[in-house]
Amino acid sequence: MPTYDYIIIGSGIAGLYTALLAQEHGRVLLLTKGSIDECNTKYAQGGIAAAIGHDDSPGLHYEDTIAAGAGLCDPAAVRILTEEAPDRITDLIRFGVPFDTIHGEVALTREAAHSVPRILHAGGDATGEHIELTLSSLARLRNITILEYSLATRILLGPEGALGIEAMDTRTHGLHQFEGRYTILATGGAGRLFRLTTNPDVATGDGVALAYRADAATEDMEFFQFHPTALSLPGVPVFLISEAVRGEGGLLRDVHGTRFMPDYHPLAELAPRDIVARSIVSRMQATEADHVLLDVTHLPGQVVSARFPRIYSFCREHGIDITQEPIPVAPAAHYMMGGVKTNVWGETTVPGLYACGECACTGVHGANRLASNSLMEVLVFGKRIIQRTQERAGAPAAPALGPGDLRHTLRSDFPQEAGTEQPTLARLQDLLWNNVGIIRSRDTLEVAAATLYRYQQLLTQAADRPTWELRNLVQVARLMTEAALIREESRGAHFRTDFPEPSPRWLRHILF
Ligand SMILES: Cc1cc2nc3c(=O)[nH]c(=O)nc-3n(C[C@H](O)[C@H](O)[C@H](O)COP(=O)(O)OP(=O)(O)OC[C@H]3O[C@@H](n4cnc5c(N)ncnc54)[C@H](O)[C@@H]3O)c2cc1C
Repeated sequence: MPTYDYIIIGSGIAGLYTALLAQEHGRVLLLTKGSIDECNTKYAQGGIAAAIGHDDSPGLHYEDTIAAGAGLCDPAAVRILTEEAPDRITDLIRFGVPFDTIHGEVALTREAAHSVPRILHAGGDATGEHIELTLSSLARLRNITILEYSLATRILLGPEGALGIEAMDTRTHGLHQFEGRYTILATGGAGRLFRLTTNPDVATGDGVALAYRADAATEDMEFFQFHPTALSLPGVPVFLISEAVRGEGGLLRDVHGTRFMPDYHPLAELAPRDIVARSIVSRMQATEADHVLLDVTHLPGQVVSARFPRIYSFCREHGIDITQEPIPVAPAAHYMMGGVKTNVWGETTVPGLYACGECACTGVHGANRLASNSLMEVLVFGKRIIQRTQERAGAPAAPALGPGDLRHTLRSDFPQEAGTEQPTLARLQDLLWNNVGIIRSRDTLEVAAATLYRYQQLLTQAADRPTWELRNLVQVARLMTEAALIREESRGAHFRTDFPEPSPRWLRHILF
């Protein structure tokens, strides 16, 4: 069996950044299930948050992050995130990421629920693409073994913890095993659970499913963020219209042209994402429309096209000149707040197994992620993973579970129905969109939980990438749905019509 010091699964910002740091300390294998550039990272538009502005401070960034997290952020993790963020920007600049500047200084923009401008961006709204390209080009030049089209199917376990992984060549379907001292999950999110999502095809929650099957704890799975503004045009793929568009002055109007966000929240268009998403749904229902309008026509046209070149040209290609007419938008599934539980060193509850990026739950997002904190979370906690493996080589510590946290196992008490409907990706996505989406209730969640249980009984075999991904999605969907059933309140991104208010009883986490 080939042996490495670090096995890293995934080639988004989490996989590439940890691989670039790890290769200074040992042999690194980075494997990814598609081509190296297939990931969520490449699509990130708005930017990356760090308190580097003159009127900003890590303390202010900390307060905004805690406020967005609706009572469930881990204060220690947020403190680390906000204090270490400026140094991680320096790392990215050293790696060559070309952040935009204005009058010789790094340009900063503002996004929803940030009290000051603190978002760095590159290429206007092409931040993720620049980061991905810069890091993947460097990784190819460094001493890193890169295996593309290689899908991790299993964490290999021994009495001491993780020993490495099994992976499938997605072209030949052959299985191969790799041994590693440290295995790092960097597999990204799970947006493909839902019919409408900003995420690309690779976002199928594989890391959470792999970790769960290896007996690692998952946490906060009920919290999934829906982005309020994705382009909504019939026949056109879902395309994100960045929060920064509202940050730069964009206004939300209903289909009759009436501005509505001031009726819902004092911060209006810059209210937290969950509030904007639910307000849009409510306005769509009131006007019997499938979208609302995002209006930037009052801003100078050249500023809009220069600041948002990708959004401008994508909309233009599909017949909308955003400088002249409003953009039809609707919410879409965007970001998984929960994931594989880690401590502030990226360690999971399985020794030797680490998680970084969107597949991890470090505690910084709580019930709702503050915009542009996710790319920074990767850098801060990715760096700490590599530091930890150096400082404590051979003696990893599992994260402590909090005293109030609730530990659960997935249910098996569902009635055996004679349903014959076979699970497919489209059926799963419709089920989740309709029953476990922006607005939930016990009734919708119970239907989803029973259906998912039955789907899982039918999906015992996987032999190629689509069947592995469907299995993983069903696993993740079960964790999300059952956590959402247990949490009898509304908080952050989790909203239930039968429990519409937050409850102090639920200031705790749900783990599986
Ligand atoms: C449209 C869009 C805009 C966004 N804008 C912003 C923003 O402005 N600021 C911000 O902070 N965040 C933003 N986000 C979120 C942010 O981009 C992601 O959270 C972040 O890029 C996740 O990085 P990652 O490395 O964890 O995952 P990814 O970049 O998704 O990478 C995951 C990698 O793992 C691989 N993989 C998955 N499963 C397996 C497997 N079983 N075996 C092998 N390989 C596997 C995938 O192929 C992929 O290469 C945005 C997200 C989207 C979708």
